[in-house]
Amino acid sequence: METHYDIIVVGGGHAGVEAALAAARLGKRTALITLERSSIARMSCNPSIGGLAKGHLVREIDVLGGEMAKAIDATGIQFKLLNRSKGRAVWSPRAQADKRKYEAYMQAALTASPRLDIIEGDARGLDIKEDTVRGVLLQDGSRLSGKACILTNGTFLRGKIHIGDVQISAGRYGELPSIGISDQLRSLGFSVGRLKTGTPSRITKRSIDFSRLEKQEGDPDPLPFSYATTHFTPKNIPCWLAYTQDETHRILHSALDRSPLYTGKIAGAGPRYCPSIEDKIVRFSEKPSHQLFLEPEWEGASQWYVNGFSSSLPVDIQIRALRSVPGLERAEFIKIGYAIEYDFFPSHQIRRSLETRAVSGLYFAGQVNGTSGYEEAAAQGLMAAVNAVRNLDGKNPVVMERHESYTGVLIDDLCSKETSEPYRMFTSLAEFRLLLRWDNAHLRLLDISREIGLQPEAVLSRFEKVRRETRELVRAYEKQRLRPGNPLKLPLDRSASLALLMRQQKIDENDLRKIRQAYFPDHDEDSLDQAFVLTKYSGYIERQHKQVKKARRLEAKRIPPGFNYDRIASLSNEGREKLKKFRPETIGQASRVRGISPADIQVLLIFLEK
Ligand SMILES: Cc1cc2nc3c(=O)[nH]c(=O)nc-3n(C[C@H](O)[C@H](O)[C@H](O)COP(=O)(O)OP(=O)(O)OC[C@H]3O[C@@H](n4cnc5c(N)ncnc54)[C@H](O)[C@@H]3O)c2cc1C
Repeated sequence: METHYDIIVVGGGHAGVEAALAAARLGKRTALITLERSSIARMSCNPSIGGLAKGHLVREIDVLGGEMAKAIDATGIQFKLLNRSKGRAVWSPRAQADKRKYEAYMQAALTASPRLDIIEGDARGLDIKEDTVRGVLLQDGSRLSGKACILTNGTFLRGKIHIGDVQISAGRYGELPSIGISDQLRSLGFSVGRLKTGTPSRITKRSIDFSRLEKQEGDPDPLPFSYATTHFTPKNIPCWLAYTQDETHRILHSALDRSPLYTGKIAGAGPRYCPSIEDKIVRFSEKPSHQLFLEPEWEGASQWYVNGFSSSLPVDIQIRALRSVPGLERAEFIKIGYAIEYDFFPSHQIRRSLETRAVSGLYFAGQVNGTSGYEEAAAQGLMAAVNAVRNLDGKNPVVMERHESYTGVLIDDLCSKETSEPYRMFTSLAEFRLLLRWDNAHLRLLDISREIGLQPEAVLSRFEKVRRETRELVRAYEKQRLRPGNPLKLPLDRSASLALLMRQQKIDENDLRKIRQAYFPDHDEDSLDQAFVLTKYSGYIERQHKQVKKARRLEAKRIPPGFNYDRIASLSNEGREKLKKFRPETIGQASRVRGISPADIQVLLIFLEK
């Protein structure tokens, strides 16, 4: 076995897969250590990729050269563009996954990657000398040396499952937890916290009475996630909608005193935005019913996922409660729902490169940073690897700003906010969301992607062409006039520019094909659409650009690393403590740390200017 690597990735989840692929593709000898080879890229919970804001992350991962978008395009079984009736900023793609094919796709991609070894093993500790990582120690006593290490242990660090009174040490049901790493890092001075998440039961298909459920199909004209996917004709396998009722809530209520959530057995905070069913009936007690989505876990699956029914109640209660739902009276359980608690590292301990402050060459990505979600994990894994490689090559890290990408928002939030519950991405977290649309990821990230170097030049040139054409078309839409009797057959009294008609909403996306045929047959459809959005929302977009300009003035003011905040007597006590904890890299970042007042920022600015 090879024992010397440039980069060692610990963990083969969604963060680890992207990290290992990126590091190897960027030319580094890479090892991916994972507990079980066959569980690489496993979806621990819901069989889906994307969704609100998460779909944006997947598109960004794709443009930057990651794998997630291609994997779901190749293996998805139902695709939907969410929020299509709302404004462009919040449209977001989502797909039901075939979990098994998704894992197989990712495992094949890793196996095919040159310079990458997959090692099935249990990383028990890190070899750290003089505050620098030197390698990873495995349970079998072997040691791998590495110049950088990316930890992506997910929910496995001292993982503990709860089902009613029962507690099981596990990283996921049926998989061992990871013991050693979080204790070692704690002993080195790292702060370690505890979070929780949960998953619902899985039931058999044959026990579902579909005649009593509502059918939910994907889009008839599905769009792929990846810009590389062509000839896209995926499956459109329906999901089904069921509703809880009074009786369900009564059964759940009767057992709250047996829920580890309420008996205090679970110490870690769970995600408020994704509560368990017992949490929902308490917090939203006025609601007579909650939706449950029944989703196949793979094509032709006998195993179905009960989305919305995550629970840590005892087995008998989960069974009775679910069987009270119309259509699920005969539900046969394959797996019971459970909650899981795990260690994480509060993210004030990392820089925006995702390297830890305390140990050079050590990077954290994914759930270990307090986030939740496959897409959040994948985006971090990719960026951690990119920056680890750049560090070894003596280059500056790639740090995206908040106006450039959701990935930038995610990492900036991690580095400036306390984690009180698992962090997941929402469109509402991005203040410049009209600029960060799912449809323009290729244009806004083109230059950064070129800098990173994972995308072939041919792909980048295609993006470049769309960017150039978009600029031309924005001007052309202002000039091109439509007259009565126009080729679009739009009823008009007098002539008007295409741009005006777009702003007046007399022309929408559905007319772009005809506009292309009539006026711009040589331009790409994508360019026409991009120019349409820029034209239609021009007023709002311009306003956001102005806000970005203002915000960037603060982002440009850097705070020297190791700056001694004790030298500024006039800072508030809370402000000083928070600045020392988060160590922001710029004044802009400092202004987003909760507890830092505008007065603190002024004091800091004056001091730095002096
Ligand atoms: C029960 C459950 C419910 C969840 N519910 C949701 C949900 O509702 N919504 C949501 O967004 N997310 C949910 N998640 C979280 C989601 O699974 C994660 O956000 C996502 O998988 C994180 O990816 P990751 O790469 O960070 O870690 P993971 O996907 O957890 O992967 C960790 C990997 O590290 C490996 N590993 C761990 N320790 C070691 C070690 N010492 N040595 C070698 N390999 C190691 C494991 O084998 C695994 O391959 C849930 C997770 C669980 C377990």
